[in-house]
Amino acid sequence: MMNPSQRLLIICLLALGVAPLLLPEFYVTLLCYIGLATLVVLGLVVMTGVAGIVSFGQQAFVGAAAYATAGLTTLLGWSPWGSLAASILLVAGMAVLIGAVTLRLSGHYLSIATIAWGIAIYYLFGNLPQLGQYSGIDNVPAVSLAGWEFNTGRRAYFLIWTFTAAALVAAHNLLDSRSGRAVRALRFRSVMAESFGVNTAALKLIVFVQAAVLAGLAGWLHAHYLRFVSPHAFGVNAGIDYLFMAVIGGASQVWGAVVGAAILTILKESLKEIVPFVLHTTANYETIVFGALMLLLLHRTRDGIAPAVSRWLPKGATPARPPEAPVPRLRKRPASGTPLLGVEGLNKRFGGLIAVKDISFSINAGEILGLIGPNGAGKSTVFNLLSGTLAADSGAVKLLGAPIDGLPARTIARSGLARTFQHVNLVSNMSVLDNVALGAHLRGAKGTLAAMLRADRSEEAQLLAEAARQIERVGLGEHMHAAAGSLPLGQQRIVEIARALAADPLLLLLDEPAAGLRYAEKRALSGLLQRLRGEGLTILLVEHDMEFVMGLVDRLVVMEFGEKLAAGLPQEIQRNPAVIEAYLGGIE
Ligand code: ADP
Ligand code: MG
Repeated sequence: MMNPSQRLLIICLLALGVAPLLLPEFYVTLLCYIGLATLVVLGLVVMTGVAGIVSFGQQAFVGAAAYATAGLTTLLGWSPWGSLAASILLVAGMAVLIGAVTLRLSGHYLSIATIAWGIAIYYLFGNLPQLGQYSGIDNVPAVSLAGWEFNTGRRAYFLIWTFTAAALVAAHNLLDSRSGRAVRALRFRSVMAESFGVNTAALKLIVFVQAAVLAGLAGWLHAHYLRFVSPHAFGVNAGIDYLFMAVIGGASQVWGAVVGAAILTILKESLKEIVPFVLHTTANYETIVFGALMLLLLHRTRDGIAPAVSRWLPKGATPARPPEAPVPRLRKRPASGTPLLGVEGLNKRFGGLIAVKDISFSINAGEILGLIGPNGAGKSTVFNLLSGTLAADSGAVKLLGAPIDGLPARTIARSGLARTFQHVNLVSNMSVLDNVALGAHLRGAKGTLAAMLRADRSEEAQLLAEAARQIERVGLGEHMHAAAGSLPLGQQRIVEIARALAADPLLLLLDEPAAGLRYAEKRALSGLLQRLRGEGLTILLVEHDMEFVMGLVDRLVVMEFGEKLAAGLPQEIQRNPAVIEAYLGGIE
């Protein structure tokens, strides 16, 4: 039995298949242009809409591939298929170089850099005599496959849309995978993603290269469909149009690429006809009308058209709990009582402020250690030093005897530390299930390519089943499919714990998990933590709430002004005059 959205997909595919047989030539051409643009925009949907990397320069990759294939086939007599491989390699290489330099830039600087390389490439094409300067290269051969030549508009249509449909499916598969979850975290949650083992710099580069490859594919198709290339198709305007298409379509949904590409292409084409007719002039007023329409569209549908349209589409069935699957890789656990974490002489300054001064303590496997102290005492800073989110000025941290200080957060995560954040750090528009599955990132290994080809399904089933088990373990089973950001703050904190548990940690670091919880929720959390200790987990609990800590922890370390004030059993700490003076004074 097909669900409504699958039926819709089949109908769309059928319509695409018969369209060129029924429509006049003009519309077939238009559909070819839409297909080409969709490829480029699809790269932007993943890169800009999902990962948050804004590029105005995609036309440079389209142009580079178009020129490469035109040059190779006309000047050197290569076959189009041979030059497909070469031009994609060229574009990927360009993207690696450009990305390595520009992806380090943040925000506006990155976007400005994309404009700069777009302009540079345009003038490069226009000025090289070998590439025909501003008149370009013509007589580019058509693509042929098994004796079949794609040399008419209708034939090229099938070639273009085969690639475009495949790219749409691949992008959809990518976003629905282990790597896809990590890509979704890139935009606002890089620090969190690093803490769960994602190499965010590498992932950004991968996303950037993939978008460039899609643009390159469009460029190759463009050259062999139009049978000539000239620099004018790859000017800065084109780059802005692509970005516009992504925004208009709805930059966070795969099929928003088709919607955006279609609307912009059709609008531009029809305005060229309508505006001069209505205004009785041949002056180029259509650009102004086009701009005004775009403003109106953006004003009316801020997230693009795709989300607005999807409200009208038939709803799919509510997703079920992921089916049970084998447990993904588990760590070897040390015996209870083994020294697990050793911290020696940790120091951290922020300018003139000494946030952490000479802090030492240790945790044994199977215990809950509380790290308490007044606000601003330096607890979260210690926490960030241990998890690698901040680098210590000096001091040593060892996990099971192996030094972990100075390592990046993702490496520390790999060695068995998992954390929550004092300020909730979830991907809010992603489901609870996907957020928690991101915690299990390091228990899987399949990359973006496997995801696109759906070669990751058995691993993915294991990760999702594991995430579901952890969500049920913390008692949030009924909220599995809700968007994480839609839960009350207290429950979001529990989702953070489930995500950390999904990493199968040796040591669980919790930063103020009880903050903002109501009394009953605090008791439930306390019960959960005791249960986890019973199951052999080791926990470092940073807490402000004394009452919550006292009944729960095995030992306490008290901090004040960055220094260790006291350490010992909860009863001893409660009786310690210095602690009462500094911390409990206000409460008792
Ligand atoms: P706690 O978690 O115990 O409330 P923190 O570790 O967050 O305390 O902060 C300790 C001190 O360090 C505070 O005075 C805080 O203002 C300062 N601090 C924390 N992070 C930074 C930072 N990134 N830059 C500058 N100062 C910071
Ligand atoms: Mg804190």
